[in-house]
Amino acid sequence: MPDSSMMDNRNGMVSKIQSRIRTDSFKSNYDLVGKELGRGKFAVVKKCVEKATGNEHAAKFLRKRRKGEDCRRDIINEIAILESAKANPFVVSLHEVYETTSEIILVLEYAAGGEIFNQCVADNDEAFTEKDVIRLVRQILSGVAYLHRNNVVHLDMKPQNLLLTSSRPLGDIRIVDFGLSRRMDNVKEVREILGTPEYVAPEILNYEPISTATDMWSIGVLAYVMLTGESPFLGEDKQETFLNISQVNVDYSQDVFEGVSNLAVDFIKTLLIKNPRKRATAEECLQHPWLSGPPQPHAGLLPSLEEAESEPESPDSAQELVIMASY
Ligand code: ADP
Ligand code: MG
Repeated sequence: MPDSSMMDNRNGMVSKIQSRIRTDSFKSNYDLVGKELGRGKFAVVKKCVEKATGNEHAAKFLRKRRKGEDCRRDIINEIAILESAKANPFVVSLHEVYETTSEIILVLEYAAGGEIFNQCVADNDEAFTEKDVIRLVRQILSGVAYLHRNNVVHLDMKPQNLLLTSSRPLGDIRIVDFGLSRRMDNVKEVREILGTPEYVAPEILNYEPISTATDMWSIGVLAYVMLTGESPFLGEDKQETFLNISQVNVDYSQDVFEGVSNLAVDFIKTLLIKNPRKRATAEECLQHPWLSGPPQPHAGLLPSLEEAESEPESPDSAQELVIMASY
């Protein structure tokens, strides 16, 4: 991990990287193949093949200028955090970095199974079983425990940023998108947080300090969605969603958790706690009987979305969050 001299002392951003930034042509070393893999506000991700090896990768094209501001620093922070987590198998690996006049291109390990989002909102036969969720949540926690041990918070844990190495058969987790991530040592302020409100912890809404516990809240939301296909705090609009979060208004009824074990519900309850200090840590979660116990009997298929009242929105239409905070 970088030492503190490599830190931007104001806001937990890391400013030194190890990767060589290539300025030769990305296009002469890679062929773009297939359609876009994904797209966010400032990035587009495309599948590519390295000409020299024939290996598949995902290229994330990040615009350096956003809303008229130079955001190179943010991209360098994203690269530095990816580098610091390269020893963990559940964090996507970074192969190469290119820079053009307008963009920085991250050549990443290709996660062929796509976002777990798709299976969270899928019909019965494609939805996760509880056994799948146990295995995947263990992997997510193992990656996040590694980040947290190294004082890194992800701050954007949601199904669109959790990918699979393959979908059928169900592969392994790759955590992606370190665009909002910060190093916690020396964090004095976090100025702007953009994300999807459904997964955001109450302390963010209340302008209180963020910590590793902030990620743990999102993992609670994530486990809820993976097991039920429903987003626990999603309201009709942003205001209602925020109110549901700040009141920790969660439905744990049998209706929603049909066919899901009590241990799973108990696990979620250790995370969806308003006080960040009382939430379980990643290490504690890995010791929870739901994840550490002997394999449980098959819990049966998850309820279909036809029966469910509301389903999580697609990433494009999801309510958007912009918070200006100063700690
Ligand atoms: P943003 O910061 O714009 O959200 P992400 O890093 O989350 O960018 O990438 C956007 C989307 O692109 C992801 O949600 C995912 O669908 C796809 N994607 C990103 N990285 C990979 C990858 N390594 N392999 C396959 N798909 C990817
Ligand atoms: Mg993303």
